Amino acid sequence: MPVKDVLAHVDADELVELTRDLVRIPSVVRPGDPAANESAVADYVHRWFLKEGFDVEVQDVAPGRPNVLAVLGAKGAGKSLLLEGHTDVVTEGDPALWTHPPFGADLVDGRIYGRGAADMKSGLAAAMVAAAAFKRSGTRLGGRLVVGALVDEEAGMIGARHLCGTTIGRDLDAAIICEPEENELCLEQRGVVWARVTVRGRMAHGAMPEAGVNPITGVGALLREVPGLQKRLRALCAKSKYLRPPTVTPTIVRAPLAGVPQSNVIPAGAETTLDIRLTPGPTEDVVAAEIDAACRRAASACEGVTIEWRALNGYRLATSVGKDEALVRAMTKGVRQATGRAPRFGGVPGSTDGTILRTTLGIPIVTCGPGNRLIPHQVDEYVDVDELVAAARIYVASAMQYLGT
Ligand SMILES: [Zn+2]
Repeated sequence: MPVKDVLAHVDADELVELTRDLVRIPSVVRPGDPAANESAVADYVHRWFLKEGFDVEVQDVAPGRPNVLAVLGAKGAGKSLLLEGHTDVVTEGDPALWTHPPFGADLVDGRIYGRGAADMKSGLAAAMVAAAAFKRSGTRLGGRLVVGALVDEEAGMIGARHLCGTTIGRDLDAAIICEPEENELCLEQRGVVWARVTVRGRMAHGAMPEAGVNPITGVGALLREVPGLQKRLRALCAKSKYLRPPTVTPTIVRAPLAGVPQSNVIPAGAETTLDIRLTPGPTEDVVAAEIDAACRRAASACEGVTIEWRALNGYRLATSVGKDEALVRAMTKGVRQATGRAPRFGGVPGSTDGTILRTTLGIPIVTCGPGNRLIPHQVDEYVDVDELVAAARIYVASAMQYLGT
């Protein structure tokens, strides 16, 4: 079947309404509130695929937080391709700051507004409609197409980690991550390490600092190491065509670590978190050695303090795939077929579920989805309908190129 016959089954109006439905279901995860999670969206996606006649596998990742995997075709002698989306969204913040209600899914001048409109109910909807286009057109793919709606991308990525341990995950050969990247083909993603640094001193009266050891001085010393650490990591990482160079950014400073803060008490402990972004190159050990060295230098500058650190959520190193990968070649052709233009290549400033899939399963990933790259997590988040429809078409043509018929 020619690709245009499958593309004819991508209905723009249906895609817009599906995206709006998904945006209207708030899926902000609020720890402590068992009703505030991805379950309602997951349930919607599950029922939608059943109605379309797909085989659906629901994987319970955590109580009330399921991954939904819709499967089309058998892998057989062919390949298995994942179209990946996540069902959680970040907080809407203060709704009064929004011009369009955060879960209203207003459609105005060719844009859909709302939390998750770009990141990433739209990408998920585009993947769903793309998969359905194969089913509705009666196309038999030469492999297996999986649409994955995963939980918890915005936090610990437990949905992606869980998927990697399941049969359906281990059988994957490649994945398209449908995150908002303006439909560019992103071949690289920056990595992230959150280094939680804990400084210990000795409690004392603020009027008699000589009687204690102030851990806040140690935090200060560590912060002075940040520019040097950033410089060394930049030297160790490869220069990237698509990614900004590594950065080391302090994001949290906290003291005391126990008890109430009091102006006349030197605390026993203090901590800071460094948000470290990396480009491809160094291994975990190399990155760790640099952070160790920065902590050692800071400690030696402050007599009596001890400084330790750990990686919150482990290491998510930068990922990269080459233009010669079968998936990249398939998508390069797919973009031309779907949009009539040559693809733009790019890189993802942060990490995504694709980071987990790439590093755990070793499979190639390309991040490509609708939505302005800078709009996620902002108020009045939106997606352009034109970009949304183009994304669904790109997924159809790319999957067809990659899996064959
Ligand atoms: Zn996202």
